[in-house]
Amino acid sequence: MATNRTFTMIKPDAVEAGNIGGILNMITEAGFKIVSLKLTQLTTADAQAFYAVHNARPFFGELVEFMTRGPIVAAILEKDNAVEAFRTLIGATNPADAAEGTIRKKYAKSIGENAVHGSDSDENAAIEGAFHFAGREQF
Ligand code: ATP
Ligand code: MG
Repeated sequence: MATNRTFTMIKPDAVEAGNIGGILNMITEAGFKIVSLKLTQLTTADAQAFYAVHNARPFFGELVEFMTRGPIVAAILEKDNAVEAFRTLIGATNPADAAEGTIRKKYAKSIGENAVHGSDSDENAAIEGAFHFAGREQF
């Protein structure tokens, strides 16, 4: 159900740094069930579509370049109140502002290269999950 699922990506910086295992461990330790999981890579068109809401922002080109430069891990996660609970677990966009114990506090390098994505609404969680996973891949 949309209200207890969210979508995440482990971004290229964290995959390059060997942090897939550490981040998935924090996610499961926090009580999220993994519903879908894959290693994949975004094309330029994928990244432009995924972050279309930011296409007028000055950092858009840099964001697309970053998100396409290497593999990402895509996942659908399940927990009560998943969207909000996961945003709390990942911490602020800028790791300098991220709370202790959050994924971005531990693994993010900068406001641009910030290790993980988390959906910002139930509606976007459903759209983003469907962008990456066919129904038969959602357990
Ligand atoms: P995400 O959507 O990836 O979970 P977020 O919701 O915390 O992150 P958004 O405001 O949606 O933050 O920004 C999307 C992404 O764009 C950020 O995670 C970051 O990678 C990049 N970004 C945001 N602000 C900046 C900035 N000022 N400079 C460079 N990159 C930025
Ligand atoms: Mg966002």
